[in-house]
Amino acid sequence: MKTCKICGGKHLAKGLCSKHYQQLPEVKAKLREYYQKPEYKARRREYYQKPEYKAKQREYQRKPENREKKREYNRKYYQKPEVKARWRKYMREYHQKPEYKARRREQAELKKTITEYHTLLKKKKPSRTEILRLEALADILGRDIEEWRTERMRKDYHERMDFSQRFEKRSGQP
Ligand SMILES: [Zn+2]
Repeated sequence: MKTCKICGGKHLAKGLCSKHYQQLPEVKAKLREYYQKPEYKARRREYYQKPEYKAKQREYQRKPENREKKREYNRKYYQKPEVKARWRKYMREYHQKPEYKARRREQAELKKTITEYHTLLKKKKPSRTEILRLEALADILGRDIEEWRTERMRKDYHERMDFSQRFEKRSGQP
């Protein structure tokens, strides 16, 4: 029986097994051409959508050694200068996009609102204007101002009680 002249495996063609046959430059080129064809791509896409393929992939990725392998591969991949350059270019373009800029502006705006909200919330004696502003901010942020108000009233009540008790104690002593 004919075997592969490199590894001694099952013979396919030209004295080689399938793995070593596919490594021949002319075969490699032909395969590359084949992989670019739309019908091949469509079939592969279809295969990737199959539940049994997905299940197999999940099973494979669950194994710690495979996960480590993938991490190692990614580490090496993203350290390549050409990949880094491509990534930098992509990020530069991404940061120039109007929708990205709009989102950034929105986030900055929101951060400002939250900061103002918390600053006002911490005030011991907020003015009428500040309370109105706080309510407006709570409305924007979807926070519950009722809870805060109850909490404040309870605090106010305790402070008043505390004061009157101290006052009574002091006036009780001649
Ligand atoms: Zn071989």
